Amino acid sequence: MTARILIVDDVPANTRLLEAKLSAEYYQVASAKDGFEALRMALGWQPDLILLDVMMPGMDGFECCRRLKEDPTTLHIPVVMVTALGEPAERLRGLESGADDFLTKPVEYETLMARVRSLVRLKRLLDEWRARGETARALGLTSESVAPPSVAGARALVVDDWDLGAQTIQQALGRDGIIAGRARTGAEATELTAAIPFDLIVLSLSLIEEDPLRLASSLRAADATHEVPMLLVAEPEERDNILRGFDLGANDWLVLPLDENELRARARNQIRRKVYQDRLRADFGTALEMALIDPLTGLYNQRYLMRHLRGLLESGQNHELAVLMIDVDHFKSVNDEFGHATGDQALRAVADVLRGNTRVFDSLARYGGEEFVVVMPGTGAADAALAAERLRSAVEATPCTWAPGKPSGLTVSIGVACIAQHPGTPEALLHAADLALYAAKRAGRNRAEIAAPGAPPPT
Ligand code: GH3
Ligand code: MG
Ligand code: MG
Repeated sequence: MTARILIVDDVPANTRLLEAKLSAEYYQVASAKDGFEALRMALGWQPDLILLDVMMPGMDGFECCRRLKEDPTTLHIPVVMVTALGEPAERLRGLESGADDFLTKPVEYETLMARVRSLVRLKRLLDEWRARGETARALGLTSESVAPPSVAGARALVVDDWDLGAQTIQQALGRDGIIAGRARTGAEATELTAAIPFDLIVLSLSLIEEDPLRLASSLRAADATHEVPMLLVAEPEERDNILRGFDLGANDWLVLPLDENELRARARNQIRRKVYQDRLRADFGTALEMALIDPLTGLYNQRYLMRHLRGLLESGQNHELAVLMIDVDHFKSVNDEFGHATGDQALRAVADVLRGNTRVFDSLARYGGEEFVVVMPGTGAADAALAAERLRSAVEATPCTWAPGKPSGLTVSIGVACIAQHPGTPEALLHAADLALYAAKRAGRNRAEIAAPGAPPPT
């Protein structure tokens, strides 16, 4: 998987060394000599990963990272801080400024590559969701989420068979408001994660009874935990296992003895990223829903209806199917008399009556302004006529919500068409129903008409 990597370092020799190593792995590499240039390039070149030196004149790495993570156009780019300082306090500052990891100089090549692979993979996933969100936004279907993700109330699962170790982790996470559960075995972890959605899994690589890497891999493969961040906890001498863990899909790691602050900072970063990802996905779901649901009535819209009807007709499984085209009578006078807001209320009331009087496998859509369509699979002309009459009388009986005590005066006219008499496209079927509706209007409204066989095709 190729990727763009931006190296930020004020010492050209450092940059060249990393550049050579990463280029040898076929990554596209660019470099920036200070924080300001880094911010510009992050914005313009949109790298998949940034390797950021800490000590730089002008703007240091912490500040640069903080600004990258504040900007909605760069916050999704993973940042690995690279420094000569291995001090816990420095690491913590880096993590708190939003860095995704911390590597010490001289950079250890294998660890760097494992991190790069893992972070790039994650970024690809986020990019996919971001792209879908963009499409939805371009269509005007959703708005940008703004509130920063919070970790309080997030759920973590600590998988460790060592009681004291697990408790220390649980308590440390608890200080950030993270609700941390515990599993002693892989079986317990599998069971819990299948039942409860978690935002983070902290997995000890020191499990005695089973192979923690096998567990890591099966958690990655399972649907419930496919995208849950995984943080490995390991003894310093388990470096090879940690690297293998990354290739199996782990997202971050910690070495024992546990530095509580570092654990918390890493956990927070992972959870924030997960929440961000969930939000992108939810935005997309909302966008999809908004694209297919009429906001006023909550019914399907015409776009959905046409697609759905086409699917039903093309499946060849519906030998009988009826559509009802329903139009509110003299609806203009409701608007004229009571105002548009009351008109909206009346439309919602009609929609509710229709919803309450159709079967679960019928599809109900708002077709246009004050027009509705019901699609009734498995229904022939006689039953469709009965259904139309039921809907007509239910609307007529609707109590008035805007002038309590009075009848609403709302009635509907309905045109019915069935595929037995009007086979062909959704458009032809709806056209036949529309002609029948027109006939019902002419015949005095508040009534249903069945389309005569052999109505002319749509013009
Ligand atoms: P007919 O019995 O012939 O159907 O008469 P009508 O007045 O219902 O028909 P017409 O097509 O002349 O008017 C439909 C009215 O529905 C006009 C339009 O302002 C109103 N309308 C369409 N969509 C909405 C809406 O979303 N909200 C409100 N309040 N009114 C709407
Ligand atoms: Mg009307
Ligand atoms: Mg109309």
